Amino acid sequence: MKYCKNCGASIPDESVFCENCGAVCEADNGGTPQPVFTPAEEVSAESQPNCLITAIIGLALSCWPVTSIAGIIVSAIALKKIKGINGKLTVKNKVAKILAIVGLVSSIFCTVAYGISFLAGIVAGLSGVADQVANSIY
Ligand SMILES: [Zn+2]
Repeated sequence: MKYCKNCGASIPDESVFCENCGAVCEADNGGTPQPVFTPAEEVSAESQPNCLITAIIGLALSCWPVTSIAGIIVSAIALKKIKGINGKLTVKNKVAKILAIVGLVSSIFCTVAYGISFLAGIVAGLSGVADQVANSIY
């Protein structure tokens, strides 16, 4: 536990900002209270990461064999980035959120569907081989 150099409130050691007055409270900043920093909820639209491109890539990867697995990962990354944004989402990131969810669902669905048809192909191939072996014996 340490104490705010600005207002004297007790704050957890890992905190960078005082929960009471918002002053910067790093381990040793020379004793001068830093100017009050904008709280995380008020991240401006410009400083928000743009997740739209990641979401579009995830969605684009989602509908093809093999790449649908990458689609799951990329869409999940886009969703995680969007969830990590505090405060109001920009329009781009609102669109990105929808695309990332669609991309995630679509890529999981396609991975399962392609996986099943791939396995079905192997089974069909194996039973074909079994038939040939059986035919060559009899
Ligand atoms: Zn304080």
